[in-house]
Amino acid sequence: MDEVRRIMKNLAGSQEIEDQERAIPFDEFLVLMRRHPARTIRNIHQIFHDMVKTFVGEGVDEYPGDPESINFIGFDFTPLLVDGSDQPFFADRLFANRLMSMIDGLRGGAQQNKIYLFDGPPGCGKSTFLNNLLRKFEEYANSPAGTRYEVVWHLDRSLVEGGRSEEGGSRLGRLLERHGESGDADDMQDRQRFLEVPCPSHDNPLLLIPRKRRPEFLDDLFEDDQFKWNLSTSKDYDWVFRDNPCTICSSLYQALLHRVGDAGRVMSMIHARPYRFDRRLGKGITVFNPGDRLTKQPVLTNAVLQRRIGTLLQDSNQVRYLFSRYARTNNGIYALMDIKGFNRERLLELHNIISDGVHKVEEIEERVYSLFMGVMNPEDNKNIRGFQSLSDRIEFINISYVLDSSTEVEIYRNIFGRHIGESFLPRVLNNFARVIISSRLNEKSPALLDWIGDAEKYKLYCDENLHLLKMAIYTGIIPVWLDEEDRKNFTARIRRRVIAEAETEGQSGFSGRDSIDIFHDLYANSGREGRMITMDTLCAFFTRARPELARQIPDGFLESLRRQYNYQILQEVKESLYYYNEERIARDLKNYLFALNYETGTTAVCSYTGDKLEITESFLAGIENHLLGEDVSENRRQEFRAETQREYTSRTLTQEIMVEGLDISMTKLFGDLHKRYVFSLKNRVLDPFLGNANFRRAVKDFATDNFRTYDRKIRDDVTFLLDNLQDKFGYNEQGAREVCLYVVDNELTEKFRD
Ligand SMILES: [Zn+2]
Repeated sequence: MDEVRRIMKNLAGSQEIEDQERAIPFDEFLVLMRRHPARTIRNIHQIFHDMVKTFVGEGVDEYPGDPESINFIGFDFTPLLVDGSDQPFFADRLFANRLMSMIDGLRGGAQQNKIYLFDGPPGCGKSTFLNNLLRKFEEYANSPAGTRYEVVWHLDRSLVEGGRSEEGGSRLGRLLERHGESGDADDMQDRQRFLEVPCPSHDNPLLLIPRKRRPEFLDDLFEDDQFKWNLSTSKDYDWVFRDNPCTICSSLYQALLHRVGDAGRVMSMIHARPYRFDRRLGKGITVFNPGDRLTKQPVLTNAVLQRRIGTLLQDSNQVRYLFSRYARTNNGIYALMDIKGFNRERLLELHNIISDGVHKVEEIEERVYSLFMGVMNPEDNKNIRGFQSLSDRIEFINISYVLDSSTEVEIYRNIFGRHIGESFLPRVLNNFARVIISSRLNEKSPALLDWIGDAEKYKLYCDENLHLLKMAIYTGIIPVWLDEEDRKNFTARIRRRVIAEAETEGQSGFSGRDSIDIFHDLYANSGREGRMITMDTLCAFFTRARPELARQIPDGFLESLRRQYNYQILQEVKESLYYYNEERIARDLKNYLFALNYETGTTAVCSYTGDKLEITESFLAGIENHLLGEDVSENRRQEFRAETQREYTSRTLTQEIMVEGLDISMTKLFGDLHKRYVFSLKNRVLDPFLGNANFRRAVKDFATDNFRTYDRKIRDDVTFLLDNLQDKFGYNEQGAREVCLYVVDNELTEKFRD
């Protein structure tokens, strides 16, 4: 029994929290408003904007300070559209940027007269998107950070009736007070004393300050701070000085003023309570499906309340408690899921409301400010054609199949588990996504062709249609393989043109559902225990296992993808071997620069490294071979030596080191030589191993007992290489071995020899 009491007590306790939601008198509301002005004074557009910004944040710019930036940056929509939802929606970078610019457009005052329609092909997930968005809005709007207030009148009978009927109600109240235990009796007494009249339009209580007096009133209420400055200057807050309360609130205000004769008394009857959103009840947020029938009862009322108001005011005509369904989403969201069936009628009905912000409820003009939004299929466009005045009010936001490979991969991870990456060699999973996306792009890109000209020069890294370049850009990456010239010409104008091409892409090709099926097929059949999905597996899948899929992939794309992959892993393997020499390079270069200042045949201790140097022709040539290549002419070698020495004495030593106090490794000359050295090292780092059959076998035998039979040098090199591939490029041991064998067996060094 005690246990049950305790549980009951907890339950009661938790309900007290809801009690905090009870209405507060107008003066308390003003205190609250003064304390949190930016939060309490928000219309639907402002709060929707704040909601998205709260979940998504500011975004990440991978190229800060890029003067040609068009602000095409990475936003993380996971908290808004993925977290906590049964059916997540993944916004690719293109859609995320479109959505953000729509959200930014919600600020600034002029946006009431619009309906936002998200327009996209079947299978792009647009309904999921809208559902998730609205769910998060509901969550936010009902949380402390998103709470706004609405008017609820507490008509004080004694005040309105001038004391005439004080007896009846309060005698019962006093009786209950004596016997009952507080709470309930208070409530009962309140109910007798007050007639509660909610505002069906969810008006902000602030609107009940007469419009003419508002500027002065708000000026008095707020300190001279940033908020007050925004309030008086920003377009966002035009509504505060422009809007009137609904006809019910204004007629009630007038009638009460007439009866009690004093605005202060009328104000004392205004209360504020949190504006609660409940999509299922259609409170503040309503979503219509095409099959939802149109209501036969366009005008809503409340006969009991109407009678009570009439009795209290002794006039049944002064205040008409009459409103439309639109009032229920005033200051909230009205959404249409697909523009067909009955939703087509609904869209047309919105016409007056959207263009004038007002419509007729019987003879009364009702004002409606809502956020109107919806989703539609491109083919339903015919349903709105021919209504010019309406289509001017529609802002379409394109929602397509995913066009950025990292988002596409994120979808697979979400469906098949975070671990799927372990079944793929690095880069291969991403390449699968690229194959899928290639089917969704337009064949030619005028913007890229104008910019790059002849695609032939990038054939090592890119396909002839430059799809791989485009995908990189859509993912927010400017590829490192672009030459200096093209990098420089990648202007804001070109960027805008490239991004604009996405507006016509992602409407066909493999749909979101297709790609999941295709991925499942590949993964289930090839990603078995102990085997890795390689580039070979991937290409064979699209050419041999599912040749019918290849028809949707642009000609030559798979080959180009493979070539780019080969080039990339060759760089990885080289990088993994070369890193070993970094310290050596610095030492060589410092010694070389120091030695240049001495006659050959002498010895000296290098002041940078402390090495004792025998400065001979072969010592210098040994380092120059890395800087100039081995087959350089003797002439060029001498010339280079003289130039370098001149530069060293005239600038490096005298200026940079002695005057500016730089370390030698930070000087320009050192940097230039370092670049040359690294380039040549990387290029040839694999050469000693390629012809060596032992090397290949040692890679194969790594981590077996056999490995110990190889000589020390090979064991060290192989261990070093495989460790680096794992540390730097995310391979596991098996993957690292496979990729080394792949490089050797396919003779990639030969294929990419400069
Ligand atoms: Zn109202």
